[in-house]
Amino acid sequence: MIDGKCRVCGIKLTVEAEDDYMAEGFDPMGLMKLLTCNRCYDYKTNRENIEDKIKQCCIVLIQAQIQKGSETWQRIRLIFISLTRRYAELVQRYNHYPTVLWDEDFSELLMDKPHLWWKIMANYRIHARDNSRQHRRESEKALGQAPLV
Ligand SMILES: [Zn+2]
Repeated sequence: MIDGKCRVCGIKLTVEAEDDYMAEGFDPMGLMKLLTCNRCYDYKTNRENIEDKIKQCCIVLIQAQIQKGSETWQRIRLIFISLTRRYAELVQRYNHYPTVLWDEDFSELLMDKPHLWWKIMANYRIHARDNSRQHRRESEKALGQAPLV
């Protein structure tokens, strides 16, 4: 058994290494650097899945030069609303938000600036993580408890 931690969230993980690997001069420390817990792995997979769909819609918006307010534009807008809702839920749950919040500004921003989709998504994640940390600190302070982490 080797003790390690998730390279994303830092949670402690224990890995059972096969004796055969060890006998062949296998480097367990190399493996430990690649460890990801199930929660982070699922999050990354689901996140990339939604991001890929958003990217595809953004490419359509950019390349097809879709007129604002047209039928196609409206359709893409509805897809963005649905995808950003799913994304918000995924990101906020991963960051242990007590409630899931979604704002139409998120999907509107993608409609207005499809060429910046990657940045919009990255900023959203950073914002969600910081908000969550702040919320946790505030609730710990309110409860008069020592921080858990
Ligand atoms: Zn993790």
